[in-house]
Amino acid sequence: MTVVTRFAPSPTGRLHVGNVRTAIHNWLWARKHGGRFLLRIDDTDTARSEERFVAAIRADLAWLGMAPDDETRQSARGALYEARFAELRDAGWLYPCYETPQELELKRKIRLGRGLPPVYDRAALTLDDGARAALEAEGRQPHWRFRLDHDAPIAWDDLVRGPQQFDPALLSDPVVRRADGSWLYILPSAIDDVAMGVTHVVRGEDHVSNTAAQVQMFAALGAAPPAFAHEALLVGSEGKLSKRLGALGMDALRDAGIEPQAIVALLARIGTADPVEPFADPAPLIAGIDFARFGRAPARFDEAELATLNARIIHQIDHAAIADRLPDGMGAEGWAAIRPNLRSVAEAAEWWRIVTGPFTPPPAAEADRPLLAAAAEAARAADWAADPWHTLTGAAKAATGRSGKTLFLPLRLALTGRDKGPDMAALLPLIGRDAVIARLEA
Ligand code: GLU
Repeated sequence: MTVVTRFAPSPTGRLHVGNVRTAIHNWLWARKHGGRFLLRIDDTDTARSEERFVAAIRADLAWLGMAPDDETRQSARGALYEARFAELRDAGWLYPCYETPQELELKRKIRLGRGLPPVYDRAALTLDDGARAALEAEGRQPHWRFRLDHDAPIAWDDLVRGPQQFDPALLSDPVVRRADGSWLYILPSAIDDVAMGVTHVVRGEDHVSNTAAQVQMFAALGAAPPAFAHEALLVGSEGKLSKRLGALGMDALRDAGIEPQAIVALLARIGTADPVEPFADPAPLIAGIDFARFGRAPARFDEAELATLNARIIHQIDHAAIADRLPDGMGAEGWAAIRPNLRSVAEAAEWWRIVTGPFTPPPAAEADRPLLAAAAEAARAADWAADPWHTLTGAAKAATGRSGKTLFLPLRLALTGRDKGPDMAALLPLIGRDAVIARLEA
């Protein structure tokens, strides 16, 4: 059996960390099993779906390194849905209903008032042809419900949640099609999962009750249901995913200097029993994904954790893999010197500007002048191919008797203008002898 997973976003906005996490798990699972990872654009809601979001979803997945093996769009599959709808209707699985939203709300309140579960009472099933014709003569168009089989208990073994059981009599027959002919998500999704040969549906636990109904839809469609993995939702570090975090689109994260590998490494593992680690290559994530190790408690997304992971990943990236994003002239040595200090790749350009100049040091304190003069003197004579920083600091120490911070800080400030940064021993050869002397003597 070839594993087939699908990521099925609705193109009504940018992908955010919550739905990207679901995409990552689908992708990892398919990759682990040598299977296929499909993108299905759930754009049946034509009023809210936008083409620019479809394009953004594709671009974000490519940026994250998870380009799908194939793509489908629900808006292009109306003929398939019509055909399967007609089959299900003719087989008695679907029935027309005429209640208005207000009537349904009233029924719900009455049932609740009587202490009954607020499920649809199936009144539409008692209508005969005459009654339906009369309602349609009034101008009412039917919406359609799927008739759950009350005699077939619903059960599946969820890969995350374990054995799940539902009594269909306690569920409302789900509406699958609106009076205007448009589709709700639930039936087209099941039709597509069958048609696309989806073997594993991986999605958020907010879909569990949809799954209960869909288990019967798969049976009605003559197909075995796929395996299901319903993952716990994502929340912010302080509870509910805040508006800001929840809205963090991939574009905002990219603009903030976050690397795609950091997003994948974090979202793949939070909420699971496996530790978050700075994997620049997804191979260990692919090998390690196991839904049995997913927790039932909400996964906590912490922006600070993402920033830390991002830095640790940047510190591993090879020059060759990043050269096209570095400033002109910044070679492997420059990257190696500066990389350990970066929290974002963009910061490399600032450091490279400091290295290459033009650079005017901040005015030195009077008391530091002898120290800087001694270092400049040593720079003239130093063997620049050996370890000039050692030579400079040695001479400055001998001339002033200083050590530690009082020795190093004035030199660092004069040479870079910053009180911290990359290892000076690595930076000095990059700045070059003449510029070092000029900065110390400025
Ligand atoms: N379009 C649905 C959503 O975004 C898809 C859910 C599913 O994976 O079936 O919630």
